[in-house]
Amino acid sequence: MSVTHSRRSLSLYSPIGPYTEELLQQPAKFGLGMIPERLQPDATTNMVCGFCSTGCGLHIHLREGQAINLTPATNYPVNLGMACPKGWEALTPLSAPDRGTVPLLRDGDDQLKRSDWDTALREFCTRFKDIQSRHGEDSLAFLSTGQMATEEMAYLGSLAKFGMGIRHGDGNTRQCMATAVVAYKQSFGFDAPPYTYEDFEQSDVIVLVGANLCIAHPIMWQRVLRNPNHPEIIVVDPRVTETAVAASEHLQLKPKSDLALFYGLAHILIANGWIDESFIENHTNDFASFAKFAADFSPESVAATTGIPANTLLKIAKIIHEGKRVSFWWTMGVNQSYEGVRVAQSIVNLALMTGNIGRPGTGANSITGQCNAMGSRLFSNTTSLLGGRDFSNPRDREDVASQLGIDESRIPRDAGWAYDEIIDGIRSGKVKGLWVVCTNPAHSWIDQAECRDLLDRLDFLVVQDMYPTTETARAADLYLPAAGWGEKNGTLINSERRIGVIKKVSRAPGQAMADLSIFRMVAEYWGCGKMFERWTDAESIFRSLATLSKGQPCDFSGIKSYSQLDQAGGIQWPFPADDDGDVDDRYHASQRRLFGDGQFFHADGKAKFLFESPCPMPEPPCDEYPFLLLTGRGTASQWHTRTRTQKSPVLRQLSPAEIYVEIHPDDAVRLCVTQNDVVH
Ligand code: SF4
Repeated sequence: MSVTHSRRSLSLYSPIGPYTEELLQQPAKFGLGMIPERLQPDATTNMVCGFCSTGCGLHIHLREGQAINLTPATNYPVNLGMACPKGWEALTPLSAPDRGTVPLLRDGDDQLKRSDWDTALREFCTRFKDIQSRHGEDSLAFLSTGQMATEEMAYLGSLAKFGMGIRHGDGNTRQCMATAVVAYKQSFGFDAPPYTYEDFEQSDVIVLVGANLCIAHPIMWQRVLRNPNHPEIIVVDPRVTETAVAASEHLQLKPKSDLALFYGLAHILIANGWIDESFIENHTNDFASFAKFAADFSPESVAATTGIPANTLLKIAKIIHEGKRVSFWWTMGVNQSYEGVRVAQSIVNLALMTGNIGRPGTGANSITGQCNAMGSRLFSNTTSLLGGRDFSNPRDREDVASQLGIDESRIPRDAGWAYDEIIDGIRSGKVKGLWVVCTNPAHSWIDQAECRDLLDRLDFLVVQDMYPTTETARAADLYLPAAGWGEKNGTLINSERRIGVIKKVSRAPGQAMADLSIFRMVAEYWGCGKMFERWTDAESIFRSLATLSKGQPCDFSGIKSYSQLDQAGGIQWPFPADDDGDVDDRYHASQRRLFGDGQFFHADGKAKFLFESPCPMPEPPCDEYPFLLLTGRGTASQWHTRTRTQKSPVLRQLSPAEIYVEIHPDDAVRLCVTQNDVVH
């Protein structure tokens, strides 16, 4: 291992919380070694998959309380008996030989050496408190992800921000999904994907934008294939993806001309009167100014910008007009771009103006990526305060403080730095201590080389992960071994707002602990454990979050227990309870979409048309960098930085051995590049 950290002297400042010894002597209190008691030794239990945002249900087969195999759940409304290769292999990474089993601490020889929890947690608190006392409140930050359970995210965000005084923390919330979140908040009044997966099967026109479902969301693609209406499938993508090949129409537009494309389609729909005037009048604001704006996007000008001929634009607009149930879906091709908010809203505008929202088979539908990206968006205390609330709103702060039984002054008045600002903070020397939980930025950050250099500049880097072998963990000063999916309890929220349960069906190896248990230990050692004494286990946190969600659009106060979720096959929010704790019958349907009543979440109940002139590409091709690089998922058999999926020989076999690029055939000929050449 080659790590060039400068060695720092230890501070003498090492206050330890009052419950330390007691808790260390009671590992069961942290959920160590516990298999859920209600399970029979040989039985099958259900839980949701922990890779992608589809949120498939899996039957886990147990022998003597330990998972030995799994099969896709036939009775779960998401996947209906299907699973992708990752789901089938979900248990394999748990038994990988490189699992972390003990805390590791970097020693004077710059080597990560075996430690123990007591030493590790004392070191954690000593070093971070020392940095904080010497460099102020901006000097510490945490980075996390949408791969953890909602309860763990809520604990981490609350512990860091309310308990430890760490102002800055982020996960995927202000990274890959930020644009979709902002687009929904501005258009609908809340971060609210409106759809249910059944819409894939009920549309007669499906528009997929920057979304390669065949590879990135294979079970959603299977839902499309089950559609009995023989839908028109329109794929908008500069690449000839697997999904584009299967489409009835592929709009292979020039990269980043999508905003002009959707304004151009709006222009044609408006010019031909192919709009739902009644819906626009009763349920939206600002259509007149949008129509005036869209008038400038003539088919001819849009054809020149996008490379899509004017007559094709007319044909696509006509298909949308003639569709009875048109659904628009987008994912990272839209989200991860310099004007992603406006592109998402240009898609929302099309759904609003044609009245394709709130009905079966319709919607302006953002598909997310990670298994709990939706939980992270609402409950991680990063982009918003717990429950989709607002850090700057005094009433929201009061509600959260009272629910936790803490002083309102502990709650920050803003969301703190976003992911990229935290990276900037390390670069500028402001951030000196970083806690990385369940994620691998040394691989996933857009500039890997710079990220690794920045991590090395930190005074203290703590990495909490299943494996000490990830690119990020190898740079750590302190590594904390974490349990993975299947080794802990909690809930995940999938793309269609469905809350599903994960369970402990396998023992974590060695001294590895559930992230929640680690957070509770940190709280005790830091000296703020009492603040979170109401949160004794995952389910108690879940009940607390359910109460906190009351009155919010994501209200799920009608869910009282994990077993209720289990029996229902997951429950989509909203699922509100009235004052007597009863839930209205209409919420009991297993597939529910939002806005069926035409009521959106802005104060006047109306959605907004939002728009802005397209901006020039910030980094256009030039002589030195003549190509545009578009990234995309290359296989359905690997997940993100492959920390888990690469452990499976089956998944390795099913995916390309090397990363690869595809280049345009004309460029290939000009550069004399042939198939399987190595390019730099
Ligand atoms: Fe389903 Fe996604 Fe898991 Fe595959 S990875 S089984 S699509 S949840």
